Amino acid sequence: MSKIAKARIDSALCFAYGSLMVKRAFSHVRHWVFDLDNTLYHPSARLFDQIEVKMTSYVMEELGVDAAEADRLRSSYWRDHGTTLAGLMREHDMDPLPYLEAVHDISLDHLEEDRELAARIKDLPGKRIVYTNGSAPYAERVLAARGLSGLFDGIYGVEDAGFRPKPEREAFDIIFGKAGIEASSAAMFEDDPRNLAAPHAMGMRTVHVAPDPHEDDHVHYSTDDLSGFLAKVL
Ligand SMILES: [Mg+2]
Repeated sequence: MSKIAKARIDSALCFAYGSLMVKRAFSHVRHWVFDLDNTLYHPSARLFDQIEVKMTSYVMEELGVDAAEADRLRSSYWRDHGTTLAGLMREHDMDPLPYLEAVHDISLDHLEEDRELAARIKDLPGKRIVYTNGSAPYAERVLAARGLSGLFDGIYGVEDAGFRPKPEREAFDIIFGKAGIEASSAAMFEDDPRNLAAPHAMGMRTVHVAPDPHEDDHVHYSTDDLSGFLAKVL
């Protein structure tokens, strides 16, 4: 056998073995938790570019600051409080509902239906939910644009956790309590690695979904192809 043929067989075996390991690691999972933004659609859709523009103008208007100061505040709140909204609520006592409505009033024209992903999610055994730091009505719109409506047992936004955001442990406790998610038989898919720390500590399988892999103790798997990963799980 040529060296090239042997290398090809080795790589095929390696792939098959990797798939088997993934399948085993998820064989106990009956509750599936998906983040929304940049997880159930590819970040190249750049919806966050639109949301960030809306956030900046909202902060400018509400706090009477210029664009540079609004952007500085946004990134410091994101870093220190998990989300811009959490910082605005804690430091400025801001009303969350008008904010959520304003920042999610964006065009979804860049999203396309994803039949393969829909089929993979539909095949997952047990309960499936979406849990986003955005709002639930926004999540419904995004799911519809992706052709993923009707596949989930529940759709939860930051409002369902009393406006406490991921990565706070309390936020996960509230949502999982409402949704009936048992961490010991659950998996979480998410693009922001910070939001996998609590699920990992709770005993969940954690999957980081992003173009660039992220290595961390609380990340079990990293993938840039959610459909392909779910195909291995099944
Ligand atoms: Mg996300």
